[in-house]
Amino acid sequence: MTTTIIGFPRIGEKRELKFATEKYFKQKISQDELAQTAHELRQKNWQLLKAAGIDEIPSNDFSYYDQVLDAAFLFDLVPEEVKRLNLSTLDKYFALARGYQKDGVNVLAWPMKKWFNTNYHYLVPQLTADSHFKLTGTKIFDEFNEAKEEGIVTRPVLIGPFTLLKLSEYHDTAATNFINEAVAAYLAVFKRLAAAGAKWIQLDEPSLVKDLSATDKQLFNRLYEPLLAQKGKLKVLLQTYFGDVRDIYDRLTELPFDGLGLDFVEGKKTKDLVAAGFPDDKVLFAGVVNGKNIWRNNYQKTIDQSSVLPVNNLVLTTSCSLLHVPITVTNENFPDEVKKHFAFATEKLTELTELAAILTGQGAQKLAANKQLFAAPRVKEDPEPHKQIASLTAADYHRQPARVEREKIQKAEFNLPLLPTTTIGSFPQTKEVRNERRQLRRHEISQEEYDEFIKGKIDEWLKWQEQIGLDVLVHGEFERNDMVEYFGQHLSGYLFTKNAWVQSYGTRCVKPPIIWGDVKRLHPITVKWSKYAQSQTKKLIKGMLTGPVTILNWSFPREDISLKESTLQLALAIQGEVLDLEANGIKIIQIDEAALREKLPLRKSDWYSEYLDWAIPAFRLVHSKVKPETQIHTHMCYSEFSDIIPAIDAMDADVISFEASRSNLEILDALKAQHFETEVGPGVYDIHSPRIPSVSEVKNTIRKILSKINVAKVWINPDCGLKTRGVKETRASLINVVTAAKEIRREIEGNDDK
Ligand code: GLN
Ligand code: ZN
Repeated sequence: MTTTIIGFPRIGEKRELKFATEKYFKQKISQDELAQTAHELRQKNWQLLKAAGIDEIPSNDFSYYDQVLDAAFLFDLVPEEVKRLNLSTLDKYFALARGYQKDGVNVLAWPMKKWFNTNYHYLVPQLTADSHFKLTGTKIFDEFNEAKEEGIVTRPVLIGPFTLLKLSEYHDTAATNFINEAVAAYLAVFKRLAAAGAKWIQLDEPSLVKDLSATDKQLFNRLYEPLLAQKGKLKVLLQTYFGDVRDIYDRLTELPFDGLGLDFVEGKKTKDLVAAGFPDDKVLFAGVVNGKNIWRNNYQKTIDQSSVLPVNNLVLTTSCSLLHVPITVTNENFPDEVKKHFAFATEKLTELTELAAILTGQGAQKLAANKQLFAAPRVKEDPEPHKQIASLTAADYHRQPARVEREKIQKAEFNLPLLPTTTIGSFPQTKEVRNERRQLRRHEISQEEYDEFIKGKIDEWLKWQEQIGLDVLVHGEFERNDMVEYFGQHLSGYLFTKNAWVQSYGTRCVKPPIIWGDVKRLHPITVKWSKYAQSQTKKLIKGMLTGPVTILNWSFPREDISLKESTLQLALAIQGEVLDLEANGIKIIQIDEAALREKLPLRKSDWYSEYLDWAIPAFRLVHSKVKPETQIHTHMCYSEFSDIIPAIDAMDADVISFEASRSNLEILDALKAQHFETEVGPGVYDIHSPRIPSVSEVKNTIRKILSKINVAKVWINPDCGLKTRGVKETRASLINVVTAAKEIRREIEGNDDK
């Protein structure tokens, strides 16, 4: 029995790749220097895997930015305008990743999307009638040779053709037009790898774990039948992850793949599929170590799970690439008692080799030690939240009276103008703001000094909001580092890491906190600043909270209690905060659920039963006890929710704002068609770009919104928080938004007079 992994994090233990790449973007280091850093990181990873005793080591899991973009460059699927740029290959690559503006040339970056059910984001290839698959890149060969020079014959990793075609977007063409070219191009890769001395190639096909239609299966067959028929002596591992392959398992076992990689962690049906039969002529790459979470593997559980595994032709691997976990726990200062429960990427390597030993009868000691780790509860239970959850009744999940009734009460209470204007919460987190927080952290300034600074910021921005005539004001979130961490710091049960970074996209990394134990609110969290802001203005202040589903989805969750249970604990904590805000005179409270969609199951058939059926009630629990006249807002960050509109309405918020500026019409149509009841603020401009929208542009957007949605239900706001924007563009943009809203308001009210 041997061991391998699907892929290793490439960013570096100290985020070396991020820093080098960003320096390169700023022209502070040369391309050679960047290449040197990348080379050292790859070398380090290969040596690390080798030293850990991993038998089969992957290559080409490295990427300067994204593995899907790598595949697009390997196969020359690059827009002509990018090819034409007078730049090095690497700079063209970065141009497509990040956009490029210079000397009148303007190249748009490819759009980014969530990578399946992770918080990683990939670039979405845009294929046109002019796109052609052609093997022109060399990265996969270069990295294979680089490792070979180190004496390691690796298994190169590449996105498979099915997933590549499924993830791409098509303009005046279709996936089927690329089948022949794709087959030829992949075969050319096989040939060159075999000639270079490779034994295996790993083709990643995570798209196979989704619901597959007959057309999908046909596409798969049309790609893989010719590919496998002509593959030559190179062995092909078909690697899947993030779920099970129930729709196509039979076909996968029939086709002449040399290896099948299956996910035993997230794949609920994987065990049953394999139990029903696995062919003798294939190697099973069994993903038994969780590639997504940070907890130690429970060996006994894994062994029980493994009863179905074939004895021969077995490779133990991770459930998915380790890209989604931080690199090592050794860089954290937790006490040993805590640390011993964690396995980040490096520690998971040891788990694989130990499991292999145990499964071949040589690891009794390791097994015993692991059993001990799981013998006693990891963390002492806090009875309070458990008791509270046990005593919840249906009424706790339903706010009274019904939304239509509340709407009347709130309209009378607030007397807001038609098309009320507001923002999503945060104002620019300038260097000054971050610097002040750093000084507080380092005890260079006192808490009092810091608080004075925050007060000053709130005062400044309140005054400005009043001046430009916004209707519902915010305090600006200057006191917050991050919308999840800030809350986590005021809850029991949370742990924070120092270096546990995970790549989110490109050079961006996140450091999710860890839910270690039962969660409870320790004290009021946001009341002080919201109350202060309300005391400084006659206008309405909107309190600003992060919702339970988002807090959960952007943390590493527990495995010893269910996600639902954890989310309900978080919901009760935030409920306490909502009620405290209300008691302190805050009449409008926004509960952000930016990441609601994050854990939506990959199979549509599981959406409600496995997720929305508890996630949506958890949100309702947060606000079910407020007075009818308290207005609850929520905010979501993505435009992709046309398919879960009833679920969003069922959150029973009074108002929702969302990102819509890039695909306005589509969502508006869906909202209309599905009789969406919640009042809505579809973002009227895109805050992800520094561009300032003109008044007439915003007016046009508002008109578009009004053509689909009853004016009495519409709010006017940007499409997300403004913390990443500069002060100048923020102010100019918001002035235009308010002006546009006022002009349209006048037009409408003028019409009413006639
Ligand atoms: N209220 C948060 C902010 O304005 C929302 C952020 C988000 O949606 N990601 O920053
Ligand atoms: Zn947002």
